[in-house]
Amino acid sequence: MSTSPFANLPDSQGYFGRFGGQLIPPELKRVMDEIDAAYEEIRVREDFQQELAELFSDYVGRPSPIFHARRLSEKLGGAQIHLKREDLNHTGAHKINHCLGEALLAKFMGKTKVIAETGAGQHGVALATACALVGIPCEIHMGQVDIEKEHPNVTKMKILGCKLVPVTRGTATLKDAVDSAFEEYLKDPQNYIYAIGSVVGPHPFPKMVRDFQSVIGREAREQFLARHGRLPDHVTACVGGGSNAIGMFPAFLEDESVHLVGVEPAGEGLDTQRHSATLTLGKPGEIHGMACYVLEDEAGNPMPVHSIASGLDYPGVGPQHSHLKELGRVDYETASDDECLEAFLTLSRVEGIIPALESAHAVAWAMRVAPTLPKGEHILINLSGRGDKDADYVAEKLGL
Ligand SMILES: *Cc1c(COP(=O)(O)O)cnc(C)c1O
Repeated sequence: MSTSPFANLPDSQGYFGRFGGQLIPPELKRVMDEIDAAYEEIRVREDFQQELAELFSDYVGRPSPIFHARRLSEKLGGAQIHLKREDLNHTGAHKINHCLGEALLAKFMGKTKVIAETGAGQHGVALATACALVGIPCEIHMGQVDIEKEHPNVTKMKILGCKLVPVTRGTATLKDAVDSAFEEYLKDPQNYIYAIGSVVGPHPFPKMVRDFQSVIGREAREQFLARHGRLPDHVTACVGGGSNAIGMFPAFLEDESVHLVGVEPAGEGLDTQRHSATLTLGKPGEIHGMACYVLEDEAGNPMPVHSIASGLDYPGVGPQHSHLKELGRVDYETASDDECLEAFLTLSRVEGIIPALESAHAVAWAMRVAPTLPKGEHILINLSGRGDKDADYVAEKLGL
């Protein structure tokens, strides 16, 4: 057993330090424990690892390359910038990595239906894709307001054959979709499985989703060493729930020379109510069955959060990130909506790569610090997804 403070987490109760756990009713805890037992069983099985590895290579297109953004580095006049190209994955982002894992687990457990909510539709499309491939029914709950806003993703989910359930209650957005999906799940948790879209929720989801995403960091560390004969000095990723960042960071936790930076959305400003900087301005609390940093209002309710990147506006954050913040091993910084837009356009025009607005937060941080660093330093950015989904919105916003 490693004596490192980072290894062997979570513990058997699902805790990363004082964060995580299963803050749920006993009936649900039993179901979660069954999922954990099934996961622990297949995790060490050769045939499961083989199947997942084959899907990663032949279906997702892994390993995703690392691209040296020479023109951007030159323009900024400081540290060298490199991009881990998760945007090149099938379906255009990192989410397919854990959706495939969850779909395979559902099939192994003999579940008859995979249920989830989706906000902007990214998780819905990735999950519907994985379920089509694995051959298991999939039901996605989505707020009516979001359905009207997110046409291409709604169409894709329908084409992929999942059952799309419009949610009209409340504000008809993400939170109501979560409630609706969860109610459906509770009708038969023995036969259904709720596929969580990030490293959040009750144990074992933060662990499982992290493990499925950890391929990002394993590949990146090896690729960078092979190409440059050394590790990057800084590794950065955007943080919503935290799955793409936690896919990247653990591979570098033991490398003291590597500065790890998670970038949260400052939205319209940290001094406004319109941001989603949970680790930066939140406090330890609980949400969705886990202990983690939370943004709350004075009454202790989750704050309405905002980011230009809809994949980042969540008032909680993964328990492992909460723990890494307290250990001081990862720095959590922020980038605003405006900085994100500037990074989005700059990467598009200088390198010909249109990033997701989520990923553009990490690019924005790198663009801010690179000019202050020597030319011999290297920044590796996890480019979590591509920006096709954001193109029309940005064009309208900027009057292009
Ligand atoms: C959903 C999404 C995110 C945010 O989720 P995390 O769990 O924080 O990674 C980031 N980037 C892209 C492209 C996404 O689709």
